[in-house]
Amino acid sequence: MKVFCIGRNYVDHAKELNNKVPSKPLVFMKPRTAVTYEPTIPYPTFTENLHYELELCLLVSKTGKNISEKQAGEHYDNIGLGIDYTARDVQSACKAKGHSWEVAKAFDNSAAFSTFYPKANYDLSNIKFHLTQNGKIVQKGETKDLIFKLDYIVHYISQFFTIEAGDIIMTGTPAGVGPVSLNDELKGHLEGELVLENLINSK
Ligand code: MG
Repeated sequence: MKVFCIGRNYVDHAKELNNKVPSKPLVFMKPRTAVTYEPTIPYPTFTENLHYELELCLLVSKTGKNISEKQAGEHYDNIGLGIDYTARDVQSACKAKGHSWEVAKAFDNSAAFSTFYPKANYDLSNIKFHLTQNGKIVQKGETKDLIFKLDYIVHYISQFFTIEAGDIIMTGTPAGVGPVSLNDELKGHLEGELVLENLINSK
C-alpha cells in the first residue's frame, strides 16, 4: 500500500507557511513504513522541529486509474483522520534548496491514522474535525474549505498513479500546524468524536 498526501489544500494553511495557493493539487507520497496505528509516536532523532498536521483521510476501496471526478466516490468507502508528521526544519532546508521533501515527510511513523469509518455516516461536503494538544484545541478543519475537493483529488491523483485498494489519501491540513514536544498528547476528533490518540515518545 501507499499513502498519497495533498499539500496546501486549505487557503489559511498555505498562507501560514508563506506559500502560494496552488492552481493544481500538490501531491507527494509516503511509503508503507511511514504508516502507524500505534498510540505512541517516536520523536525522530534527525529533527528539532517535529510538527503535527491533522488531515481528513480516505481509505481506497477499489483499484483504478484515470478515474473521473463523477466516478471517484466509487473508489473510497471509508474515511478517518491522520496526522502527517513533518520534520519542519528539514523540510524548510529542502525547500530552500529546491529539493524534494521525502526525508522531511515520508520517514518511519510519519503517517499516524485512526480507525476508518463508513463514509455513508457523514456529509462529506461538510465534515468538521479538530486536533487537541494537551487538551487545548490547536487545529480545526472543515471539508467545505478544501481548495480541491475529495472527489477531485481522487480524479487528479489517478491520472498519474494507479490507486489501489488499501491505499490512503491524506487530503491536506487546515491552519494551525505547530511543533510537538516529548510527552505531548495529541487527540484527533472527527465530528466531535475522539478517534485518534498519539503520545509523543522519547527520541
Ligand atoms: Mg500535510
